[in-house]
Amino acid sequence: MRDQYGRPLRDLRISLTDRCNLRCVYCVPEQGISHRPPAELLQDDELILLVEIAAELGVEKIRLTGGEPIIRAGLVDLVRRIVSVAGIQDVAMTTNGILLEPMAGPLAAAGLNRVNVSIDTLDPEKFRRITRGGQVERVLAGVQRAEEVGLGPIKINSVVVRGHNEDDVASLAALTLDHPWEVRFIEMMPFASLAGIEGAGMVTSEETRARIEAALGRLEPLDLSGSAPSRTYCLPGAPGRIGLISSMSEPFCARCGRLRLTSDGRLRLCLLREDEEDLLAPLRAGASRDQMKALFEAAAYRRPVGQALDQNASPVSCLMGRIGG
Ligand code: SAM
Repeated sequence: MRDQYGRPLRDLRISLTDRCNLRCVYCVPEQGISHRPPAELLQDDELILLVEIAAELGVEKIRLTGGEPIIRAGLVDLVRRIVSVAGIQDVAMTTNGILLEPMAGPLAAAGLNRVNVSIDTLDPEKFRRITRGGQVERVLAGVQRAEEVGLGPIKINSVVVRGHNEDDVASLAALTLDHPWEVRFIEMMPFASLAGIEGAGMVTSEETRARIEAALGRLEPLDLSGSAPSRTYCLPGAPGRIGLISSMSEPFCARCGRLRLTSDGRLRLCLLREDEEDLLAPLRAGASRDQMKALFEAAAYRRPVGQALDQNASPVSCLMGRIGG
């Protein structure tokens, strides 16, 4: 399956729930958010049908995200079913890691291949502030457990937020000196939920790179091709890698092959644009499998190029948890 610009579409990200057990300052507003009633969200059988259709159309990689995917009821069974869909070769998950320690073993046994874990600082007090209550020790225990049960290569995602953790990038990058992990620094994107913190100005990947180099020495480039969203580097002699994801300062739309399925069953054509195709309504109205496949393919073909914002534009109105980051 390709879109109108010839970009191959092999990667589907699925938001398993719009709920999360953390409320990160750059993702969820302080007062929390109102959630859709569970009945309005994709149920397991509906989700599996859409994964089967996606796979028939050429999708090979699934990333489970959210909200916090680990809090979805029946997750282990759902992973087992996704893994066994013909054509799906890789199933990964992006998680905040709070519940990873007890769940890593069962998820690995169900066939999950890898995890990306979001950690914005190693400082327990700052972590509590950024996540509004999370404990970084629990997350690190989860990462260790994930590594023990083979959910690697482990990637750590850090959103760099001015006034919160821009001084922490070097200590996060230093994890790659001791672990074969990829620590990826992500430019903060302007979602509606930010309300207030975006005014401090985005920390660009270049600024992050300069901070890491000032503390730890020159970064050696490994892969700057842009075939993945991150450009990767390493510290001399380090077993791990450092990735810079510059969604805002250097958008990688030309090489983006990602489709997103929101928790309420809409195919989202670009993370940073509002274009979506509702798949849940026709599915519940009794559309046939062939009709659903045609809808999916036609929507995917329409994928736009170029995100709908620049650094000064108004925020995307939707919440990240619903879309799936
Ligand atoms: N709860 C899971 C987690 O924390 O990884 C999965 C969902 S979360 C929305 C997925 C990723 O999106 C996380 O790495 C998070 O840091 C990132 N994210 C959330 N809001 C963001 C924003 N405004 N800009 C950039 N990344 C963001």
